This record gives sequence, structure tokens and C-alpha cells, in this order.
Amino acid sequence: MPPTRAPSPDQGESLIRDRGDACPGALRLHLADDGRLARLRLPGGLLTNRQADVLGVAAERLADGALSVTSRGNVELRGLGEACGGELSRLLADAGLLPSERHERVRNVVASPLAGTDGLGHADVQLWVRELDRLLCAEEWTTALSGRFLFALDDGRGDVAGLGGDVTLIAESGGAAGVAGAAGAGSTAGVAGSYGTAGSADAYGDPYGMAGASGTALVRLGGQGFRVAAADAPRAALAAARAFLAAAHRAGNGAWRVRELPAGQTVDLAEALARADVAATPATIPRTPVAPPPAPGVVGRAVVVHAPLGRVSAAQWRALLPLPADELRVTPWRGFVLPGFADGTAAGERLDALADAGFVTDPGSPWLGVGACTGRPGCAKSLADVRADAVPGEVPGTAPGTVPGTGGLPVHWSGCERRCGHPHGDWVDVLATGDGRYEVTRHTGGSTAPVTGSTLTETVTTARNTTGT
Ligand code: SF4
Repeated sequence: MPPTRAPSPDQGESLIRDRGDACPGALRLHLADDGRLARLRLPGGLLTNRQADVLGVAAERLADGALSVTSRGNVELRGLGEACGGELSRLLADAGLLPSERHERVRNVVASPLAGTDGLGHADVQLWVRELDRLLCAEEWTTALSGRFLFALDDGRGDVAGLGGDVTLIAESGGAAGVAGAAGAGSTAGVAGSYGTAGSADAYGDPYGMAGASGTALVRLGGQGFRVAAADAPRAALAAARAFLAAAHRAGNGAWRVRELPAGQTVDLAEALARADVAATPATIPRTPVAPPPAPGVVGRAVVVHAPLGRVSAAQWRALLPLPADELRVTPWRGFVLPGFADGTAAGERLDALADAGFVTDPGSPWLGVGACTGRPGCAKSLADVRADAVPGEVPGTAPGTVPGTGGLPVHWSGCERRCGHPHGDWVDVLATGDGRYEVTRHTGGSTAPVTGSTLTETVTTARNTTGT
């Protein structure tokens, strides 16, 4: 296949890939060993009752009867038949889940999932999500972004700022949702129906009342930071993405992510913000704040649950419904936030029901922080059935008392060295070696270290392989 972008003759930079962007989407299905796979982008993880219901229907009628949640808060359907692409796209489009077919793979936006529900944070960034998504879908040039390019919108608590976004917005103190007439919890239905098509005049309106937002935000790209008005934050994020594309074009190395740009390649963020008519001042990038994912339980009038290994049956999925505020937020930690219960009692009752349905609802659960890639039998590259092998807590075969997740580090089981969906920051890597065993390595501060012992990695044997269970 030809390279994604032609190398620029004067740069002479090495291409970092020689293939196009094959990232799966809702329309571009990926052929896996267990059938076709569809990945549906959900900016901010947002779904309405109807949209969530439609996904459950699609899982049962067209796929393998289950739904997977990704590390970006997106949803995947697996085991799709060869001829069901058309019916799937119709279902999704009718539910407002495909606002623009040409943009469906570039709508990669994660956001603080508890924003606006618990009094923490400095802005309801879920509103920024909706506005950024609207702007993304209204511009033709944004279709040049890779399906892996990521926007992270943090309300200031620091939960998604460290998730490796190419463009990150961080709300600063002094801000307020302040979005007169704009969508609040439960408004996603209106959002789904209000997108303009690419290039429409609607793109230049202000349906979410961003002009009424107060406070400031930081926009971060690579090592650069600028302070902008909160009302301009979504437009600033879009301008930053455009600056990246220009830099990637100049570099000519096929970069899909900011970190793939060659060393020394400048991204003129100041110029891009000025061109977008966003007033901005240079700002020092604060040390990336790190806040833990929302713990399962009742938070204010919201319910937070997690899906073990990020996969739920259609029946479990339906247990999330009905949504009291017509809003489900799928989190980047493979969980769900249901905001808007009438009171704590109602929230507690739903939490109990979701525990009965098999969701993780206990903040002390050993399943929290344990993840796994697809593995066998769905992925041909896998050296093991990692989802069957994955166990919470201690990995059998390690020295007594060694628990990979000790210290709160997330643990990720992978069937091969691609380590799909592994966490960002510090984490523990449990990697299949192909001989029925796994290597366990702790990644901290950008370096690796053994979980125990003096060697870089420690090879252990899983419960499945030692006990035959
Ligand atoms: S990490 Fe490897 S085995 Fe696992 S899903 Fe990715 S490619 Fe497949």
C-alpha cells in the first residue's frame, strides 16, 4: 500500500509507517478470527437511552451477543456477519450515532466522566465534548486526522489529562458550566439530532451556549500550552489539531499522533489559535495532574460501575437502562456513569441491581484495574486466551505476596507484544510468551522493572496453566 502521506523531499525524514490508517470503525469493519469487528466512537462516552438500546439490539441481532468497552470509552461489536454492515450502519444512523459518515473514525474524545455531577472540577466538559464533536463533524479537513488521534477534555480534576491525548484541554479554577440553555445531563438526545453535516452553516452557530461559559482553560499539545477562555476551548482544541496536521504534512513521515512527529518538528500552535480567532496567552504546562478513575458506587446522584475486563453481555448492557437523565457515560476505564438519579436511595437501588447483573460495584473489588486485550480466539496474533487466563490480584507463579497491582497500578494481560488497550502512565504488563506462560513487568515513569527478583522480567505461570481450570 502507498504511504499515508508522501514524504517531503526536503525533509528526508524516515517514514514511520508505509500503510494507510486501517483503524476499524463503525463503517470500516475489521476482519478478525471471530468475525467482523465494528468500533463505534462515542465522544465523551455519551449515549442516550435509545442509543444504548440500539447497541444492545445490534449486539444480539448482528454480533456475538456482547459489547466490549475500549480504553477510550468507545464500544466494539465483535462476531459480525459478512453481510450485516449495511443493517448495522442503518441502525446506528437512525439512532443518531453516525452524525457524519466521513468523520466517524476521527471522533476520538475522552472527557472526565463525572464532570458536572459531583461538584468537583471546574467546568462541565461534557458540554465541551458536544461542541468539539459538532465542530469536528462540520469541517472537511478533519477527515485527514487518524482514527487514533485523541482529544482529552479534563475538567481540572486530572483524571483524563494523563491518558495520552494528542490535544488536551484542562479546565481551570474560576470556570463554570455557565451555558445558558445548553445541554445538561440528559440532553444527549438533542445533541444527537442537532449535528450539522460537514460544511453546514450550523457549524458556526452556538447550540451549546459556549459563549456563556466563564473561566479559562489550558490547551496542551506536546510541550506547548496556551491559556484560552473556556468559551473558546473547543475551538482551540480544533485549531490545535489543525496545527498538528500542518506539522505532520511538513514532516512527511506519516505521523498519526503528536508523539510520532520527528524531533525538532515544530507545531505552530500560536499561529493556529490566532488563525482560528482564539485569544490565547502562553502558559506553563503544569505537572500532569493524576486523579484516579471514578470508584464504583454512588457518587452524589450518579451511579458508577465497572465491567469486568470491559466486556458485557447484551443482557447486562440492558441492566444499565433506563437512564434516569437519558444519559450514559462510558468511561475510558471500561466502566459506566449513570447521572441524574432522583436521590441517593434510587441510586443505591440501581447500584444493587447492577451488582446482581454482574457489574463491579465494590470499590474494593480485585477486578478493578484488571484489563485484557482480545486474545484468543478472536485475535489471530494472540499467543493465549488471555481473557480466560486473566485473574484479579496475585498472579500465580510469582513469588509469594507479589501482586502485580500492588500500589494501585492497573494490570493488563496481553496476547502479544502489541499490548492493545494497555493503560497509560504506570502499569503492570502481563504478556503471553506462547509456551503457556506469561512475563510480568512493571512499567513506571517510562521505564520497566521486574515485579520481583533481579531480572528485567519475571516469567510466571497462570492459574489456568498450573491448575488446568
Ligand atoms: S495485543 Fe496482540 S493478541 Fe492482543 S488483541 Fe492486540 S494484536 Fe491481538
